[in-house]
Amino acid sequence: MNSLLERFALSSTPAWRVLLAVFFAAPFFVAILVAHGWALATPAVSSALRTPFMWGLQALVLVASVVTWVVAWRLWPVRHQRDPVPTETLLVCQSIGLTYTWITVLAGTFTSSTNLVLMAVLVVGLLLFERKPMVWTYATCVAVLSAYDLGVLAGWVPYAPALRPEVLDAGKPVWWFAWWRQGVVTAGYAVPLVLLLVLFDRLDDLHQRLSHLSYTDGLTGLANRRRFMEALQAELARRDRSGEPLSLIFIDADHFKQVNDTHGHGVGDEVLRTLANWMMTQVRSPTDTACRIGGEEFALILPDTRLEQAQRIGERLGAQCRQHAFVGAHGAFCLSLSMGVVEGRRGQDLPTLMRLADEQLYRAKATGRDRVCVPDVAAEGA
Ligand code: GH3
Ligand code: MG
Ligand code: MG
Repeated sequence: MNSLLERFALSSTPAWRVLLAVFFAAPFFVAILVAHGWALATPAVSSALRTPFMWGLQALVLVASVVTWVVAWRLWPVRHQRDPVPTETLLVCQSIGLTYTWITVLAGTFTSSTNLVLMAVLVVGLLLFERKPMVWTYATCVAVLSAYDLGVLAGWVPYAPALRPEVLDAGKPVWWFAWWRQGVVTAGYAVPLVLLLVLFDRLDDLHQRLSHLSYTDGLTGLANRRRFMEALQAELARRDRSGEPLSLIFIDADHFKQVNDTHGHGVGDEVLRTLANWMMTQVRSPTDTACRIGGEEFALILPDTRLEQAQRIGERLGAQCRQHAFVGAHGAFCLSLSMGVVEGRRGQDLPTLMRLADEQLYRAKATGRDRVCVPDVAAEGA
């Protein structure tokens, strides 16, 4: 169901959506015409109805059917075009909305539950269409229903104007009215429920995708800077609680500007993706996190890892890069990486750890690049 909706949402055009609405509304319109036509043609039943209202409703449904079918006929040839079809969309939405609004009014809002069907129709509209035509349709339905309710309260219009007291026999609905009402109630509860479930499912899916996007670097697929900060903060807290070691590696590609200048940005991007792939294979997911924290700057967060282990990971990555022949517009070229590795101490906060890793990276750059620098433990201890 979800993938079907997904495909529909991705590949459908505005005209397709209008056609779908017509396709779903048409059987209901026919059912209304047949059921109410039968009621009007059966004297025992029609004696409980105010027939002018019912004929008025039949005329409205007929007009709505014709309008929707004419719109469908006009839209069929342009169903593959991506342009919006505002007038046609509004016509179809209003036709369907008005039909159910008038049934709701004529059968009484409180006793017939047709307002539930109307709600379902509006939910379908929200699923299928942009907000604009739906806002107009919604406003029209609410305006008509509110005016009717106020009219009933003021005593200007009768309640359920299409029905005579004969729909009740000794206080109970006569059989056909009971069936009609039951049908409307069933549809009124079932259809919105299913649609709301679909809607929430889609919103949930959308939320997950947006949250994934907001934490992912678009070029490499690694965690982005926001994710890096949150993950490091969480790991520092965990380290303080458990006392397990935590290491951090800052990585910067050497003379990367030259790669772009010599081979073009496209090749530069490809190199960044390759580096990201190597980093992903170096980390032991899911506990480790590889991040792209800037243009050609990366970081590895390594929980439960001592400085020496982290240094070895960095050395391995550096060797892999050094030995690789990248292919550019002007032949093969090599690239090296500079890295700063630190192990966090208990109680050290995030800015301090990042500053220390940055200092080591700076030292790697300053002392000739293509190397992994770690703090001088002996000097620190002194
Ligand atoms: P150093 O060894 O001192 O780090 O020199 P560098 O050239 O690597 O450093 P610098 O900071 O001068 O240049 C970084 C370059 O990274 C500049 C920029 O064009 C490139 N860069 C940043 N983001 C991207 C990106 O998304 N794609 C590509 N292709 N290049 C990028
Ligand atoms: Mg660089
Ligand atoms: Mg840099």
